[in-house]
Amino acid sequence: MKPANCAYCGDLQDMPFQCNYCKDPFCAEHRLPEDHRCVKLTQIRAKKFGQSGVVRDGGRNKGSFFKRLFRKSKN
Ligand SMILES: [Zn+2]
Ligand SMILES: [Zn+2]
Repeated sequence: MKPANCAYCGDLQDMPFQCNYCKDPFCAEHRLPEDHRCVKLTQIRAKKFGQSGVVRDGGRNKGSFFKRLFRKSKN
């Protein structure tokens, strides 16, 4: 891969990381989908949660589940 600017912070990278999902170049700090608020992140999460069967019985953990989700995506 040739040098490119991190699509998130704009830092010039000689060896940029490419996101497997959105295919944009990123620096080491922002290469993970969570770290650059990947446009595919909601799809990735939906898939993951769909597989593991989200909230099974309207559980008591619902609140903290969503709190965790929001705290992460705010960043
Ligand atoms: Zn960056
Ligand atoms: Zn991405």
